[in-house]
Amino acid sequence: MSDTIERVMVITAHPDDSEFGAGGTVARLVKEGREVTYVIATNGDKGSGDRTMTSARLAPIRAEEQRNAARTLGVARVVFLGYPDGELEDTRDLRRDVTREIRRWRPDLVITMNPHRTYNLYASHRDHRTVAGVALDCIYPLARDHLSFPELMPEFEPHKVREIHLMQWENPQLVVDITEVMDLKLKALACHVSQVGDFAGVETRVRERSAEIGRARGYAYAESFDRILMPR
Ligand SMILES: [Zn+2]
Repeated sequence: MSDTIERVMVITAHPDDSEFGAGGTVARLVKEGREVTYVIATNGDKGSGDRTMTSARLAPIRAEEQRNAARTLGVARVVFLGYPDGELEDTRDLRRDVTREIRRWRPDLVITMNPHRTYNLYASHRDHRTVAGVALDCIYPLARDHLSFPELMPEFEPHKVREIHLMQWENPQLVVDITEVMDLKLKALACHVSQVGDFAGVETRVRERSAEIGRARGYAYAESFDRILMPR
């Protein structure tokens, strides 16, 4: 990780994506003194198997859970874009909203999801692919070029992101040792009460998966990413 990274933005689709994919990395970044902002595209209002639950009730519950998880990790702020869960499309509105937040909070590093379909269907949810593709398009060229989204000017000046980490498990380029912050990641995940009913089962799966990712590098627990360095 470059020493010159001061501000970090994590752009994901749903409340809980940041913790599952990058909670340990976020905890480390915060401990190292970086300022972390979350941008969450949807309100997570479809994520329930409870037949008595409604989308209208679920959205504020998930927002509160996400704020609790972010506070646990020391994340500076959470921005909810409020799009409906499961219906995220690569629209001008979404690209403008993500571009605006990048220009507002000016991250050096953006962590986002995987834009590609993989056969790990939970990880490659449609909204995940969409938000990741949009995030990349907003980093380049939309946040960088002053003539993109003229309605954002002059309040939101162009901004150049320097580095991107994409959550990725198949031959990742970057493996982050999260051993020392694993307990904190689990504590943050446990804040998503509506999503992790049987937390013991979730904890077992997360520990097994993180151990598997770390094994080749000799880390007890790890998270993994592809890494893009933007040319200066
Ligand atoms: Zn998700």
